[in-house]
Amino acid sequence: MMEKTQVNEWKEKLPLIGQMTAREEVLWLNPLKESTSTGLQKTGVTAENVKDASDRLKRFAPYIERVFPETKVSNGIIESPITAIPNMKEALSNQYKAAISGELLLKEDNALPISGSIKARGGIYEILKHAEALAIEHGLITTADNYTKFAEPEFHNLFSKHKIAVGSTGNLGLSIGIMSAKLGFDVTVHMSADAKQWKKDMLREKGVTVVEYADDYSKAVEEGRRQADADPSCHFVDDENSLDLFLGYAVAGERVAAQLKARGTIVNKDNPLFVYLPCGVGGGPGGVAFGLKLVFGDAVSCFFAEPTHSPCMMLGMMTGLHDKISVQDFGLDNKTVADGLAVGTASGFVGKTMEPLLSGCYTIADETMFKLLKLSADTENIRLEPSALAGMTGPVQAIHGNVKGANSANATHLVWATGGSMVPEAEMNSYYDMGGK
Ligand SMILES: *Cc1c(COP(=O)(O)O)cnc(C)c1O
Repeated sequence: MMEKTQVNEWKEKLPLIGQMTAREEVLWLNPLKESTSTGLQKTGVTAENVKDASDRLKRFAPYIERVFPETKVSNGIIESPITAIPNMKEALSNQYKAAISGELLLKEDNALPISGSIKARGGIYEILKHAEALAIEHGLITTADNYTKFAEPEFHNLFSKHKIAVGSTGNLGLSIGIMSAKLGFDVTVHMSADAKQWKKDMLREKGVTVVEYADDYSKAVEEGRRQADADPSCHFVDDENSLDLFLGYAVAGERVAAQLKARGTIVNKDNPLFVYLPCGVGGGPGGVAFGLKLVFGDAVSCFFAEPTHSPCMMLGMMTGLHDKISVQDFGLDNKTVADGLAVGTASGFVGKTMEPLLSGCYTIADETMFKLLKLSADTENIRLEPSALAGMTGPVQAIHGNVKGANSANATHLVWATGGSMVPEAEMNSYYDMGGK
């Protein structure tokens, strides 16, 4: 816990922190951002790492297609569409008095198959990588084989002798639980108090062990890690430190590039791309942003969006203290309707990796997320969970913050909608009602 005098020193040094502790919606521009080419060299993560992840997902595609028939349309590749949202653009421009003159696009990870959130990228990838390593080690497969074999009983038998554990606010648990159970692993999900009942119910139905905690995310992760460390047959999916999760997310970069190209959207120096990513612990948005920087370089600017009550990544990056501090240190309570973003301490690995690459962070109030949730349903008939709306004020923040190129008619603004399709209808209706008249 940080001393009160230290908190006051930080507020003096960085006045924005005073506004953050007053839970105002703020924008922070990263002074340590540098050119993509020099920035990437500092990270320790490479294009080869991301290509390796991409190739692995291609090897697994025939298996995914076989066991999750909803992925047939994409030949077993778990991907979501990019959708233009012109009505939302007009509504946002009017409501927030920010003329968004470029195109506004939505990356619909709310519609990702299998688990309906951005976690279907990194979470599923890490489980597949672990399964592949075990299968190779036990002589069941080579990388040249057809991976539909993973659905055969001998694989299931092998995996049933191995455990997987993860700590989660909900959506990571869903992805890890569903994928692990499908392969046959003995899987335990440690859920924070924020996790929704329907997510726990769904996992238990699939044979996943769910352990519940009265505490927040950090506690669920810590307990999960402790129990897993005591058991050598257990693989712990470490949301705070996992390179594999990060790489699974980063594969999105090349896929977005192909999707934008296919729809005729040009991205280069004169046609900049701005991407707004809801951020919890950081792995999802960090990995995606990293993948985007790899393919688009300086032509893309990435921003993380966090709830006003949980701006852990922003505080960590501003102070350079990363995972050594929590939002609670600054008197914030980490209580938010955006359960996917209810994280008090950010990933130090992601914060440090993104330090030379990220354009900035901004915060958004819960009430704003509800308002935008309703607006998105009303104007575009797209239903998102509260966390997934955090990206939506990004263009407004960038334009009001005079971010270079953001108000250009040549700009493309890509809001990353991170979840929603799995939310039960009654729950979604009550969110909608919270958006007001
Ligand atoms: C997990 C999650 C995020 C953020 O991902 P992190 O890796 O925790 O930063 C954003 N939106 C939703 C809906 C999520 O479930």
